[in-house]
Amino acid sequence: MATLVEPSKQIDTKAGLQEIFSSIQGEGPYVGKRQVFVRFNACHLHCVYCDTPQRPAALQCEVEAIAGSGEKILIENPMTVAQVSEWIRHFALASRHHSVSFTGGEPLLYTAFLKELLPEVVPILPVYLETSGTQPDKLLEILEWVSIIAMDIKIPSATGEPMQLENHKQFYQVARSRETFVKLVVSSKTTVDEVAATCDIVTDKHIPVIIQPMTSLLTGENTVPPAKLFELESFLSRHFQDVRVIAQTHKMLSIL
Ligand code: SF4
Repeated sequence: MATLVEPSKQIDTKAGLQEIFSSIQGEGPYVGKRQVFVRFNACHLHCVYCDTPQRPAALQCEVEAIAGSGEKILIENPMTVAQVSEWIRHFALASRHHSVSFTGGEPLLYTAFLKELLPEVVPILPVYLETSGTQPDKLLEILEWVSIIAMDIKIPSATGEPMQLENHKQFYQVARSRETFVKLVVSSKTTVDEVAATCDIVTDKHIPVIIQPMTSLLTGENTVPPAKLFELESFLSRHFQDVRVIAQTHKMLSIL
């Protein structure tokens, strides 16, 4: 579990961040769009395909001072709302960006911070929230400033964690008032019965449903056989109008 600035210890308008940088969205229906990324530290889940829970506390945030350069400077954590909004403005002035992706970790662990930051961000760029989709009450606190929600549905055979069916159901009912898509990271062991939970969670049939094959933490390569992807896609396409299989493309491009 990442242990940085835990929610209960947030200092007013400060939060512990891992990174702020400019890159290209590598997942989901907005793949290929230039975004500013603001990556928070902590997460309450422990998905086996993610390295966030094992990361030590970041005492400094890595900030890409020149958009797209990959060169980072270190800023002391925790960072203030004013610091983060200024960096977002800096990137927006340097190059045209589609939106700001708030990612993690789990951004919704930082709602006290986001309630002050997001009103500053909205006049600069739209807010794109990447979330585990498990904390509906937290989403409600910041919903008014969010334009796009990338909601995970956590599949046990991929995450190694129990299915959070009720949390996902409640979360989707809050999220559906905004532009929302759902993303299922699947493994070679994922079954049709598992992905069928999507039918109980997502009550709108036009919502994009993204199947994302799990990639190797070491090589970044797809670990799911094509036959499995076709099986899961065929099932979900019988229930939803817009099902897509999209791998993580930023790893193919060797970008952040
Ligand atoms: S919810 Fe996201 S950040 Fe948290 S452990 Fe899972 S993949 Fe990592």
